[in-house]
Amino acid sequence: MNKQARKIVRIVEPRSVVEGAGVRLIRSIATSELDHVDPFLLFDHFGSSNPADYMKGFPMHPHRGIETVTYMISGHVNHKDSIGNTGSITDGDVQWMTSGRGIMHEEMPQPHEDEMIGFQLWVNLPARLKMTKPRYQNITSEQIPQIQHEDGVKIRVIAGEVDGVSGPVKEIVADPTYLDISIPPNKLFSQPIERGHAAFAYIFEGAGLFDADETNTGKPIACPRLIVFGDGNFISAHAADQGVRFLLVSGKPLNEPIARWGPFVMNTQAEIEQTLEALKNGTFIK
Ligand code: FE
Repeated sequence: MNKQARKIVRIVEPRSVVEGAGVRLIRSIATSELDHVDPFLLFDHFGSSNPADYMKGFPMHPHRGIETVTYMISGHVNHKDSIGNTGSITDGDVQWMTSGRGIMHEEMPQPHEDEMIGFQLWVNLPARLKMTKPRYQNITSEQIPQIQHEDGVKIRVIAGEVDGVSGPVKEIVADPTYLDISIPPNKLFSQPIERGHAAFAYIFEGAGLFDADETNTGKPIACPRLIVFGDGNFISAHAADQGVRFLLVSGKPLNEPIARWGPFVMNTQAEIEQTLEALKNGTFIK
């Protein structure tokens, strides 16, 4: 099959948002500029050296109809939920939480000596799985394979496959790829992405070219930016002089109606009303 590079269709500058009980973060998906990139419903970046920006955390709150994916590059978040899980997500760990029909949880960042850096992605569930049983995949940093190329390119494989190595996140309907890629100055990296899947890159360190232009004539895109790619079967990234680090995320679109209300994402407004009703009369968690 022909190789077709994915072109950039959109470059999004993240917006400052205050979320939870007062956490300062920057958001690139779930804004008035970019509501979603089917099947991805939200993308947040936490990054601060000042604990006051994140200590208030995310006290007990519900979710329904989605998956929330937390990736900590550096930091410490304690979590607790309505189905009896407690634990912490620390440097390099991932939590892939499938809320299904309903979960209540809290996510509380702890003070960290270094800069706290982390991400949260929301992945939509198809209608047939909106009310599925909640499920957690807690993945420690050591369980995430790291690939290193001869030219110094490093890839942490959280979900999907690189050079025949699969990430530990399994059995997710969106068939996601989730990679953390570091490219040294002026080096190149390319990755196959299945045709028809949605794909975005989130640059959080340095700068690079992302338009499959190996002649390096374009203008590098500097952090922090989210890039949405058009269709094709691979993406390539060429680091600028300072190198670049980014997340590469892809997944199968659902092409279903989206009705969202805060932490609930369903297919119809009636399902949102039912969810709010269940929350009010105490039947949200059975
Ligand atoms: Fe949450």
